[in-house]
Amino acid sequence: MNALLLTGGRIIDPANRLDAPADLLIIDGKISAVGKDATTQAPADAARLDAKGQIVCPGLIDLHVHLREPGQTAKENIATGTAAAARGGFTSIVCMPNTAPAIDSAGTVASIRDRAAQAGIVNVFVTGTITKNIAGEELAPIGSLKRAGVVAITDDGHCIQNNELMRRACEYARMFDLTVMDHCQDYSLVTDGVMHEGYWNTALGLRGWPSAGEEMIVARNILMAELTGARVHCQHLSAAGSVALIREAKKRGVPISGEACPHHFVLTDAAVAGSQKFWATDGKPLLEVLPRQATFPSWPNYDTNFKMNPPLRSAKDREAILEGLTDGTIEILCSDHAPHCDYEKEVEFDYAPFGITGLETELALSLMQLYHSKRLSLSDVIAKYTIAPARLLNLKKGTLGVGADADVTIFNPDAEWLFDVATNASKSKNSPFHNWTLKGRVTGTIVNGKKVFAEQPETVSV
Ligand SMILES: [Zn+2]
Repeated sequence: MNALLLTGGRIIDPANRLDAPADLLIIDGKISAVGKDATTQAPADAARLDAKGQIVCPGLIDLHVHLREPGQTAKENIATGTAAAARGGFTSIVCMPNTAPAIDSAGTVASIRDRAAQAGIVNVFVTGTITKNIAGEELAPIGSLKRAGVVAITDDGHCIQNNELMRRACEYARMFDLTVMDHCQDYSLVTDGVMHEGYWNTALGLRGWPSAGEEMIVARNILMAELTGARVHCQHLSAAGSVALIREAKKRGVPISGEACPHHFVLTDAAVAGSQKFWATDGKPLLEVLPRQATFPSWPNYDTNFKMNPPLRSAKDREAILEGLTDGTIEILCSDHAPHCDYEKEVEFDYAPFGITGLETELALSLMQLYHSKRLSLSDVIAKYTIAPARLLNLKKGTLGVGADADVTIFNPDAEWLFDVATNASKSKNSPFHNWTLKGRVTGTIVNGKKVFAEQPETVSV
C-alpha cells in the first residue's frame, strides 16, 4: 500500500463546495479520505507532506495546450510540455490536434496516447480534428476518433469557414456526445492581419485583425449550437463583443461556452508598442496587483512575444473579458500554450508565427487579475481550472471526492517569484512575461498519487 497524507493545508474543492483547513489522505493513487477521517485513517507508515500555509486543490486542468508532438518537436514535445504543465500546477492537459500529421485518424490518436503514457508526467487528453488535415473541406472520421479516445474535436489554429460543413460537424459531435471547440476567426474579415485593428496597429503600421473577425464566428457558433443542440465551445476569447454574445445566448439556454487566456486579460495591444508605452497607458491598472518591484519588466516595440492569435486587444476588451470571467459568462481558464523556437520568433513582426507559452505563468496571472484584484474568490478561480473544464469534456477529473484519482495541486497564492524563461521547463522561451515578478506560486503537483513536481517552500525566518 502506498499512502501519502497532506497535512495542515487549506483544502479548496469547488466540486464538493469545500473550503476549510483539513488533511487529505491518498492511498494507491486515489483520494481515500478528507478532513478528520484522513487524519485518523492514515496508516502509521504513510508518507507525510506538510501543506501548512498552502492551498490544496484538485489538480488543475488546461484544456488548450499545443504539445507539438508529432512533427514539431524542436518547439516542444510530450516530455517537456508535460514537465512545464507539472511546474505550472497542471495535472491534466488537453492537447490540440494541429500537429504534423494532424490528429485526424484513430491511428494518430492511439500513437499519441501511447507516447503520452510513456513520456508524459501528467495526464494527457487528446483532441481530434473536425476536418481532414484541418483543411476545412471534408469532415474527419468523427465516430472513429471518438472510439479512439478523443475528448473533443477542434480545428484549432484554423476555423471552418463553410457553415454547412460546420453544421454537419456539430450534428456528428452531438451524435457522439463530443464538444466542438472552435478557434473563432472569419478569414474574409481578418485576411492577413497581425495585431488588433485599432489605434496601435495604425500607429505602428501593422495590418489589423478586427474584433468583428472573432465576433462573427462566435455569433455563427451560437446559431449552430442552437440549431443542432451540440455543445460548442469558443476558444481563447479576446473581444468584448464575443463576451456579450455568449452572455446573452447562455441566458437563453444555448449550449455555448467560452474560455479565456491570461494574456488577453492582463495585456493589451499597447504592449506591441513596447513596455514604456504600455506602462504609461494600459499597464497602469496592473500596478494594483503586481508585486512591488524596483524596475518594471521592459521590452522593445514590435516584440514578437506579444504576437498571438487572436491578438491582444484594447483596454475595453480586456475589461470585458475580466467582467465575463467575474459574472460567470466565461467559465474556463486556460493557456493556449503555443511554443515556438527562438529563430522562428526572431524575425520581423509580420513574419513571426502567432503564439506564446503559458503553462508556467497562467495560474499566477489568473490569481493576480482575478483573486488579488478582489474580482473572484480563490474557490471561483480554482473552479475555472478544475470542475468547469472537467464537466465540459466529461473528464473524470477536477474533484477531491473520495475515490477520485489523486490529482492534487498545492500552491501559495501570496508567494512572489520571478519568471525567467532561461529556467522554464518548456523547450521554448516565447513568453511575454519573461522577467515579470508574479504573485502565486505552485509548490507541489501530484498526479495519480505521485509527486511530479515539488518546490521547497521558502523558509521564513522568525
Ligand atoms: Zn487557436
